[in-house]
Parts: sequence; structure tokens; C-alpha cells
Amino acid sequence: MTCFTLARGPRGPHVPRRLSRFAPRRACVLWLGLFAWACAPPPPGRNLILISVDTLRADRLGCYGYERPTSPTIDRLAREGTLFSDASAPSPWTLPSHASMFTGLYPRRNGVTGTRFTMPKDVATLAELLSKYGYATGGVVTNSLLTTNGLDRGFDFHEEVDKGGPHPSATSVRGIEWLQGRDRKRPFFLLLHYIDPHADYGTLEDVREQFVEPYDGPLRGKSEELYAFVEGRLKLDEADGRHLSNLYDGAIRQLDGELEEILTYLEGEGLLEDTLLVLTSDHGEEFLDHGGVLHGLTHFDEVARVPFILRGPGIEAGRRIETPVSLVDLVPTCLGELGFPIPKNLDGLNLRPLLRGTGELPRRRIYFEADLDGSLAGSMIKGKDRAVRDGRFKLHFNERTDEVRLYDLKNDPGETRDVSAEHPGLAQELLEDLRAFLAAGRDVPARTLTEDDLARLRELGYAGEER
Ligand SMILES: [Zn+2]
Repeated sequence: MTCFTLARGPRGPHVPRRLSRFAPRRACVLWLGLFAWACAPPPPGRNLILISVDTLRADRLGCYGYERPTSPTIDRLAREGTLFSDASAPSPWTLPSHASMFTGLYPRRNGVTGTRFTMPKDVATLAELLSKYGYATGGVVTNSLLTTNGLDRGFDFHEEVDKGGPHPSATSVRGIEWLQGRDRKRPFFLLLHYIDPHADYGTLEDVREQFVEPYDGPLRGKSEELYAFVEGRLKLDEADGRHLSNLYDGAIRQLDGELEEILTYLEGEGLLEDTLLVLTSDHGEEFLDHGGVLHGLTHFDEVARVPFILRGPGIEAGRRIETPVSLVDLVPTCLGELGFPIPKNLDGLNLRPLLRGTGELPRRRIYFEADLDGSLAGSMIKGKDRAVRDGRFKLHFNERTDEVRLYDLKNDPGETRDVSAEHPGLAQELLEDLRAFLAAGRDVPARTLTEDDLARLRELGYAGEER
């Protein structure tokens, strides 16, 4: 069981050890003073903005080496901040990945491995922690999975807005409105979630013209086309894959313009100086890289690698860090940068030594798990894929078929050649370690999904036909 005790913040009151030596009246005055201090909002401090772009694979951004101009604003963030070039999502789909992003725990340890599981009360979210430290907390999201299962806990304001497509989503507009109306005496935490690059891949015409090459095939970038392929009812050739990929690139460029709106506002208000800004994603997307499309089923790097960029006070500009990190590191790193204590027993690490260049992280392994609800996802489920990363090696393990594959990411970044026969000892050790990790989860009672839940999930593509 994971338990969190909220330690006092860095500005917390220091109660005298031996209060009895004070005269009663002085003690009373002191207590009243402390009471008033405790009730008063903390002085404005460092703010936090977490930008989560749904379905954004790292290698489609200029700052991660992409040659197309998809991301001028994100590239600016990278120039002004520090970029982790090897950051992984612990799960290839929205709900568990965000649950880890918000808690510093792998899905198996915070309990949110699927839509039937709500985060237990004893697991603290980043918003809950910052709210208890006196922060104003706002969340603007575009995916209903972020409004359920406990992921909206700790927010004073939490709203699901128009997800856009083909027009830009309403996230930036609503986020700016919240910033304008916030309590300015308190520091703030704002979550901005954008779903623009998620299928359907839709953009306005001017962006489409910039990124989409001539194509005379049947695909329009609609989710149902992609499900039809996954279920074997539609074949895709190379030109189809390239077309989908081009549509996706356009969606990233459009999204980047929405981020520019937020940055322009923050800059105009003078907020960039006092704000830690974090940009990441919950997972990437497949474009036939390993024969598949969409996301949710595998842990190949086109799905696992996500952008992870920090900009703000004390964060060095233009720095790139190559050490492998995971989204479970986000909570301890943000708390560390804001000056708050980090809860014990988190799976993630505070990345401050890397950010400050003062040291390396302790050696560790990074885990990946895909647990789409089998009966819901129906024929979309091919197997329960898991993975563990140890430095340059990643071991994939399918829990249904027992298939094991080991890839050397340094010599084979495309994960094309299984080297488990060349490294049998390492493969065995990683497999045993992964099995132990999988066995150490916690039991969370499954809830029954309502018709509303099912309708929302079908809309997102997470609920296929039951078979
Ligand atoms: Zn997602």
C-alpha cells in the first residue's frame, strides 16, 4: 500500500518545541498568530504550468531532430529550457499514462491500469499536493479520460473543452481565461491538455496545404479507418501510411500555434519569469513503423518516446540531457523544482541532479505496461504487452503469448532485430525483473462502467466490439 504524509512546505510554520515555557497569554497570542499564518494564503511563489499534448511522438518535433517545420513554438521552449532526449511514457494510452504523470507511480502501483479502476484515495496527485500547499489549481482538458477515474482530483477548476478538429481546440482560450480570473495572491498550477494530434487527424486548410502531399487514396484520417485496419477489414499500403503521417504532422503544427497563444499571453503578463513550464505527452502514435497504427498496444519507441521539456527559473537554456527518464519522474521533479518535499515511495526520481548538472541518477530500470480493458477493446487487443528498459536495452514481453524480444536501442533504434539469443543472461534477468514488477501491483476494486462511460470510451476508440 502506498501512503502519503503531507510534510510541511518550505515556508511551513515552525512550532516551538517547548511551548510550556511561554506564559499562557503569550502562548495564546503565539497560537493566534500561527493560526492567522496558517489561514493566510502563502506569498506568491513559483507557478507551474503542465502542458500535456495527447499523442505527440517526440521524433516529430524539430527540437528532437525532425526535418519538417511542425513545432516552432515547442522548439523555442527547448531553446529556452532543458530537453530530455530519451523520455518514455509508462503506458501507451491516455488514462494510465496520465495517472502516472500525475502521481509519480507506475499504473500498476497507483491502481489506474484501465477504465474500470479509480485511483485510490491514499494516492496523492500533483494537483492535490499543490492545492494543499496553497496553490490555485486549474485544469483544462480535451479528453474525457482525464475527467474520470480520479484524475481530476485536486483541481479547484477542471473543465473538459471542445477538442477541436479541424479547427484548433479551445484549451488555450479557456486556459487564458482561467489565468485572467485567478486569485492573484496565490501561486497557481495550470494543467493544459490538448488532443489535436490524436485521430481523427484534422486541421484547417492552410495547415493541411503546408503538410499534406498529393494523395489519391481513400483515407481521410478518420479513426474508423484506422480501427478497420487494426481489425483486418482494411489494407494499408506505404502511400496510405505516408498520408496519415502527413495529416498527423499538420495536426502538430496547428497545435503548436495554440501553444504560441499561451506563451504570448504569459510573456505579456510577465509570468514566464516565475513559472516552471513543463511540456510532455502521454504517448506517441504508430504509422506502420512496426506494421501498426494508432497506439495502446505496443511499447516500440514510436509510441513510448515522448517529448519532455522544462523551462523556468533555474532551468538552463539550451541544455539537452540524454539519460533515459520516464513520466513517473515528472511529479518528484516538479515538486523538487518548486521547493516542496517529495513524497516517499514514489517510483519516479527527482531529475534535479541532471537539470543542474551536479550528478547522475542512481542506476535503475524503466517499466512499460499496456492494459487496455480486454473485453472493452475487443478485437483491438492483440496481447498484454509489457517492457523493461535497462540502459540501451529494452526487453518486450507479451504476457499472453509469452513472446520475449530484446532490442539494443543504441545499435538498432528502430527495434527491428531481436538480440535475446545473443544476450541470454541479460534477457533472462530482465524478464525475471519485469515479472516481479508486474506481480507487485495493488488490487483496486473494479467499477461497473455505465452506458455513459461506454459511450464516451467508444467515441475515443477505446471500446470496440466485444468478442
Ligand atoms: Zn492519449
